[in-house]
Amino acid sequence: MPAVRSIILKKLDRGEADELVKFFSLELGWLTGVAKNAKKSRIRFGGHLEPLSLVDMTLRARKKDDMVWIDESQVIRGFMTVRQHVGKVARAAYFLELASVFLPEGQPDEAVFTFVLNFLETLEESDLNPFLLLREEILLLGLLGYAPRFDLCPACGKAIESGQDALFSVSLGGACHPACLRGEGEKRLVLSPDTLAVMRRGLKVERDVAHRLRLHRKGIVELRQALSAFVRYLRGEQINSLLFLENMGL
Ligand SMILES: [Zn+2]
Repeated sequence: MPAVRSIILKKLDRGEADELVKFFSLELGWLTGVAKNAKKSRIRFGGHLEPLSLVDMTLRARKKDDMVWIDESQVIRGFMTVRQHVGKVARAAYFLELASVFLPEGQPDEAVFTFVLNFLETLEESDLNPFLLLREEILLLGLLGYAPRFDLCPACGKAIESGQDALFSVSLGGACHPACLRGEGEKRLVLSPDTLAVMRRGLKVERDVAHRLRLHRKGIVELRQALSAFVRYLRGEQINSLLFLENMGL
């Protein structure tokens, strides 16, 4: 098997000496690997299999299951700043988990890989404002094929006029006219006019322009609630890193 460039999501102990590593590779997509004697072999691994690291790995196929052997690894970026900041770790882990739950194992996706890597690079170099973090989450969902809509109401296809409240529908995947959702029985997820306007603008411009946009606390909370409900609806079960973000108030 070829050498692959990977971002590590997590590692678990496996028996006395081995480690089990879940990682997202540019070339082969999501895989789970066994690093034999990783806890003892500092030469081959040297603590390089840390979560959120970017590494080059030498892999070998295993006959008995879908996993691979990780024979060697070399760290390319350790993202030490990210790893020392609980809020950044939580956000990076959530983005990686989104990519992991919405992409099947063994299916490469260069656009998603590049996006996640760029996100880690940005987190390493700067603090992202809360609005920008939500914007990045929406862009990632878009790359994964689940872009939520904030422009046209997905129920009737018409624009939501400025100055009007919208309701976010998880089943329709976007901001809707309240009248279009009557009787749907979904939890009410209000998006106020300011929230909708700032997010629409943020999704139209490049990141360096979006970086200067600000949204008030109420708007951040509205969007967080809408996106959390949407992701859980899509997933159909709990997402641990999302629960952690919410519990930490991040
Ligand atoms: Zn409508």
